Amino acid sequence: MDATPQEFDRVLSSMCTRPHPAAARAARRFLADNPGDPATYPDVAALEERAVDALGTITGLDDPAGYVAGGGTEANLQAVRAARDLAASDDPVVVAPTSVHFSFQKAADVLGVTLRLVPTDDDHRADPDAVAAAVDDDTALVVGVAGTTEFGRVDPIPALARIADEADARFHVDAAWGGFHLPFTDHDWHFDHAAVDTLTIDPHKVGRAPIPAGGFLARDGATLDALAVETPYLETTAQATLAGTRSGAGVAGAAAALDAQWPDEYRENHERAAANATSLTESLRDRGYDVVTPDLPLVAFDLPEPAFEAVREEGWRLSRTGSGEARIVCMPHVTRAMLESFLETLDAVRVGASGR
Ligand SMILES: *Cc1c(COP(=O)(O)O)cnc(C)c1O
Repeated sequence: MDATPQEFDRVLSSMCTRPHPAAARAARRFLADNPGDPATYPDVAALEERAVDALGTITGLDDPAGYVAGGGTEANLQAVRAARDLAASDDPVVVAPTSVHFSFQKAADVLGVTLRLVPTDDDHRADPDAVAAAVDDDTALVVGVAGTTEFGRVDPIPALARIADEADARFHVDAAWGGFHLPFTDHDWHFDHAAVDTLTIDPHKVGRAPIPAGGFLARDGATLDALAVETPYLETTAQATLAGTRSGAGVAGAAAALDAQWPDEYRENHERAAANATSLTESLRDRGYDVVTPDLPLVAFDLPEPAFEAVREEGWRLSRTGSGEARIVCMPHVTRAMLESFLETLDAVRVGASGR
């Protein structure tokens, strides 16, 4: 087949990126290993422990429980599953802001729980008063997002944790995308900042691990015990993951990515991305575009449909939020030069459209 992998030089909206070279090398070495069967494949299992420990360090947890999942979707689903199984209610409800990732809709469908979405405030963040009004005796899980997919917003995590606690519900933080930016900001978002039970942080996004590498973390081992099933034919006796056979490449890649980049390279990436987001915001505003002021490095702005189509025709990979803004995610591969080239395209299509 004559297919070539996507080049990243015009990819603006994706949350995937070029893997770190050390992570790509490690992934190739462990292609055939199955971390789902740790007694048969002990070395990749040891790498997984290393990766989970590193993710624990990043998220304020000394003795983390968790594993390298297929992605944020699986990690979020497992958080809902644990909450459902540990809940007192027979009719468990997940309460989350409307800004929550669509993976929670899948989790609710698969697990047969109700997803109750609560409108965000006018800055696209979870509104604690509205969330407090939405929880009740059936609430099994409250979700906060630390770095929303559409606007890069960070919910008020400590306030949401208190609401969950008062409702006797578990509390999950989805930092799938934001988790490798947040350590270098002053946001409160992780296990050490609030009573967080479970957390999603994806090495295969800003962490620059090769796909598939999501991160599922729990404050205590009891959460994993609640998820574990017996495994008669394997050398180990129980398995808490959703997948059976898993990618050794994903696990080894995540371990190597974390080893190579935490904390210095991740800090540098964050600072570069934040500066790029600020400069892009200014450049767009100078040109008269309406831009949502970024928090984490993700820039959403109003772009009329003809211009949106025209820049896409020039090869720029650009997508929209649910409410229609074009969104540019300042991922590690998104350089200042690339953004300047994008602005040139934008200027050219605008001149073309106005007939000047
Ligand atoms: C990307 C993302 C997910 C889903 O992760 P996948 O790895 O695509 O399954 C979940 N939550 C947030 C906030 C995300 O940005």
